[in-house]
Amino acid sequence: MKIGFIGLGNMGAPMAANLMKAGHAVTGFDLVADMPDGVAKAESAAAAAEGQEVVITMLPNGAILRAVADEVLPGMAAGSVLLDCSTVDVDSARAVAEQAEAKGVLALDAPVSGGIGGAAAGTLTFMVGGKDAAFAIAAPLFDIMGQKAVHCGASGAGQAAKICNNMILGATMAVTCEAFALADKLGLDRGKMFDVVSTSSGYSWSMNAYCPAPGVGPQSPADNDYKPGFAAELMLKDLRLSQQAAEAVDADTPMGQRATELYDAFVTHENGQGLDFSALLPRFAAKGRDRG
Ligand code: NAD
Repeated sequence: MKIGFIGLGNMGAPMAANLMKAGHAVTGFDLVADMPDGVAKAESAAAAAEGQEVVITMLPNGAILRAVADEVLPGMAAGSVLLDCSTVDVDSARAVAEQAEAKGVLALDAPVSGGIGGAAAGTLTFMVGGKDAAFAIAAPLFDIMGQKAVHCGASGAGQAAKICNNMILGATMAVTCEAFALADKLGLDRGKMFDVVSTSSGYSWSMNAYCPAPGVGPQSPADNDYKPGFAAELMLKDLRLSQQAAEAVDADTPMGQRATELYDAFVTHENGQGLDFSALLPRFAAKGRDRG
């Protein structure tokens, strides 16, 4: 397939490289990042997108996605696919899809789970919103870049799935970290705590697969001085998107709201920026009870 790829940062570059290695012709554009070997460099987003069968975007946020869509859609042919893999707000995903469909371009929102490691290994999970016809065209590309693609529904459904998943993740990691800090103060050994909880009803991905306590459970960023991994500021971005969406549809999400406040304080005021999102554990361990 002839593919345009816009936004070749930490995630986009290895995704584009995997498509190229699988035999697709990939033309890329990024404002700053270099192209991986074998990916042709275009001089603008519009040039990267023109005449391609599929245009993939992997960009920081919804405002940038909207601006890039304005730039690329005029040069895209009817029946081609605009495949956005960024994590953005549901409204931006739907607005871009409407704009694309008005031109006869098929649109998919397909945010990913699996991080930089999954992007490099081609084992991402895609959560996809958009029409069946668009999903069918993109499916072979999902197979190359990922291990699983779930067609969640109409435009915006992929972003909805992503922010609901990450709201669960943020709240679950926060409570897992605070439980370890409580266990410390109760004199309970962290290893014993892991042995019990990982096989009891408090188990979760945060505890079992990504344990926030160093030296306990499987290897995780906690064992590497909390270097990300999944950075706290990226978790904060996703939690904010969840709260923006909850506000828009009048959904009551108190745990997601509290997790957002916690990660906001951690990233903005407590030196959490640049640390893994599981670094809430040393933060809780160093603090006493908030009596405010
Ligand atoms: P990144 O900042 O490394 O990459 C974004 C790239 O977009 C940068 O190279 C930047 O130069 C480029 N860019 C920005 N504006 C542009 C424009 N107008 N035209 C062309 N290029 C432009 O970010 P990332 O970690 O690769 O994340 C990309 C997306 O994937 C984000 O939406 C993020 O939330 C999501 N995501 C990231 C991870 C992760 O672990 N990093 C995991 C899942 C989802």
